[in-house]
Amino acid sequence: MRAIFLGTADGHTSARREHSGILIQTPETSILLDCGAAAARFLLHKKIEADVPEILWISHMHSDHNGQVSSLIQSLWLRTRRAPLHVFGPAEVLMAMKDWLEKCLLFPELIGFPIHWHAIKPGKPHVHGQFTFTAFPTQHLHSLASHFKRAYPNTCFDCYGVLLEYEGKRYVYSADLAHPSELAPVLKGGKVNALLCELTHFPERDLFQEVAQHPVQSVWITHYPDHLVRREAELKLIAREEKYRGEVHLMHDRVAHEI
Ligand SMILES: [Zn+2]
Repeated sequence: MRAIFLGTADGHTSARREHSGILIQTPETSILLDCGAAAARFLLHKKIEADVPEILWISHMHSDHNGQVSSLIQSLWLRTRRAPLHVFGPAEVLMAMKDWLEKCLLFPELIGFPIHWHAIKPGKPHVHGQFTFTAFPTQHLHSLASHFKRAYPNTCFDCYGVLLEYEGKRYVYSADLAHPSELAPVLKGGKVNALLCELTHFPERDLFQEVAQHPVQSVWITHYPDHLVRREAELKLIAREEKYRGEVHLMHDRVAHEI
């Protein structure tokens, strides 16, 4: 399975790096995990056909995770895509996205390909082709919710990471977390081949302390601040100090990896 990290920056604007987006490609299908990076430009530049991605996963409502959705849809429309696009995410996120596409004049009758909206429920496996998706909740927006939910009841404060199962292997995308301990329920469920993990909302050491307790084969770090760009060696050292024995990779924009 191939993973291309379209953007590795966190919520801060980076002069050199894009916001969140991981393109997963298998021989049969493709999944875009979050859409905060300029996915449309990347796909065109790499001459990747307009049927990619087949699936879009949106973890939560922060713009660095969904701000490029309408640009992507507009691009796929103008590139005359015909294949359906399957969008997965929290129910209220999907409602907001659907509404936003209408506001952006991207009407279902106009764009030439159907969008199938799949509202996900945490803990409930959803089979799609050779993939099984199981969402898990994170506490990334809990603190914001405690301050603003009452005043903004129509805003979605859910954030979901996802366990992807494919050909007997398990892959985990953290989405955004409040703390890595939120990964424990999904990481302890069996060997994880690759953990695609953010590293901006908690101390670096806390991530490795957590993964050291679980059968995680490799950690692929994304969604991290600019000051970490050249510190992969230091992160590996911290991982060893915390007794994490698996691989540690600091991702860079637009580089493809077999995971
Ligand atoms: Zn966020």
